[in-house]
Amino acid sequence: MYSSIAKHFDKTKSIVVLTGAGISAESGIPTFRDGAGGLWKDYNPAELASPEGYRKNPQLVWDWYNWRRTLVLAAEPNAAHAALAEWETIFPRFQLITQNVDGLHLRAGSRKIVQMHGSIHHLKCTSCAHSCDWITQDQVPLCPACGKYLRPDIVWFGEQLDSTNLKAIDKAISHCDIFLAIGTSGTVYPAAGFLDKAKRKGARTIVVNPDPGSGAQADHFIQVPATEAMTNLSKHIKLPET
Ligand code: NAD
Ligand code: ZN
Repeated sequence: MYSSIAKHFDKTKSIVVLTGAGISAESGIPTFRDGAGGLWKDYNPAELASPEGYRKNPQLVWDWYNWRRTLVLAAEPNAAHAALAEWETIFPRFQLITQNVDGLHLRAGSRKIVQMHGSIHHLKCTSCAHSCDWITQDQVPLCPACGKYLRPDIVWFGEQLDSTNLKAIDKAISHCDIFLAIGTSGTVYPAAGFLDKAKRKGARTIVVNPDPGSGAQADHFIQVPATEAMTNLSKHIKLPET
C-alpha cells in the first residue's frame, strides 16, 4: 500500500498536510474524544474551551489550561511530527496546517506551519490588543496594559479563525497536488471541509487515522496510527538525488 501512495510524491508536487489531535495522541496528549479522564472527567471540553465558559468561570478554565499545558510540556514530539519537519526540507512546495495548540510541530522543527487554532504557549487580553507568552501561575493573570483578564491565545468553540490564516490556508489548498490529513476526526469546521475542497480542486487525498469511519472520502485511507503511517510513507518516498 505505501509504495502505491508514495509514488505520487515528487519534488514538483505541492503538498498540504492537515493535522489534528490524533497526531499528538502517541506523544501522550489526549484528544478531546479520548476524554481527559481523572480530575477533569466531569467537564465537557467544548464548554471549557469557549468564551461563555471563560466568562462563567475564568478560574476553572485557567486551571484546565494550566493542566493541559503541563501535559504538553511533559510530552515529546513523536516520529510523525519528525517526519513532517523533514518533509518541509525535502519538498520545496510544502505547507503544514495544524489544528493543534500543543506546539509539538514547532518543537519537532516545522516552520512552514499555520497553527490555525492558536497556541497553548501564548496569551492574549480579553479586552485590548495586548498579547504575551504564557504566564505560569495559579490565579487568572491580568493584562499589564488594561487590567482585564488575559486568556489563552486559542480559537475557542464558536469563535472565528484569524482571517490572514484562513486566506493562507485557502490559497495553499486551492493549489495543492496532494492533501494529507492526519489524526483529525473531520467534525470541527472549517478544517473538516479542507479535504473535500482539495479534492474538488483536483488534489490526490490521503487520510491517516486508525478510526475505520474516518477515511471514506479520501483516495487513499491509511488506517493505522500516525507514527506507523508516517514512518512507512517516508521510507517509501524515493526522491532523485540533487
Ligand atoms: P479531532 O477532532 O482532531 O479528533 C482526533 C482524531 O484523531 C480522531 O479521529 C481519532 O480517531 C484520531 N486518532 C487517535 N489516535 C490517533 C493516532 N495515534 N494516529 C492518528 N490518528 C489518531 O480532535 P479532538 O480531540 O476531537 O479535538 C477537537 C479540537 O480540539 C481540534 O481543534 C483539536 O486539534 C483540538 N485539540 C488539540 C489538541 C492538541 O493540541 N494536541 C488536543 C485535543 C484537542
Ligand atoms: Zn488588555
